[in-house]
Amino acid sequence: MSHRHFCDYEGHYWDCEGTAVRLFAPEASVCMCLNHGVPMEEGDHSECSVELLSCPAHRADHMRAMGYEPGYTVEPRDQDTEGSPMFKDEDGIRIVGFCLWCNKNFYSMDEEELHTANDMADCPVFQELKDQHFMPPVLEMMLEDVRLSDDEAER
Ligand SMILES: [Zn+2]
Ligand SMILES: [Zn+2]
Ligand SMILES: [Zn+2]
Ligand SMILES: [Zn+2]
Repeated sequence: MSHRHFCDYEGHYWDCEGTAVRLFAPEASVCMCLNHGVPMEEGDHSECSVELLSCPAHRADHMRAMGYEPGYTVEPRDQDTEGSPMFKDEDGIRIVGFCLWCNKNFYSMDEEELHTANDMADCPVFQELKDQHFMPPVLEMMLEDVRLSDDEAER
């Protein structure tokens, strides 16, 4: 059973057979359901979120548009045992997570639950952007960070 992706480069849906090459990935990987965290091939995910992914025909163009050669890859970073710095706030205090929309840090699961309850009623950014099909701004910033730290490495 195939599933769909949305090519965010040209803005069209495309069918995928179960594995796809993601931007910056050296090889194809199994598509996971964003809602269930299981491979798309397992079960019915027709109602689930569609992953944004440039299609095979536009992937090279997308890479070039971002300033990379189509063959450019980023090695997955080693997980350090201390926990990634992503899970600490600016002061180094451990957080359990953060909001991808407004970048609010959560110091406990309760806080996170409160923030995401009632269709994220507590999150001003999500309320503003939810109807516009944007990527969460923080996620976009993280992708931007990958590009920036990468540029620095080349200098
Ligand atoms: Zn796929
Ligand atoms: Zn699903
Ligand atoms: Zn495309
Ligand atoms: Zn939020």
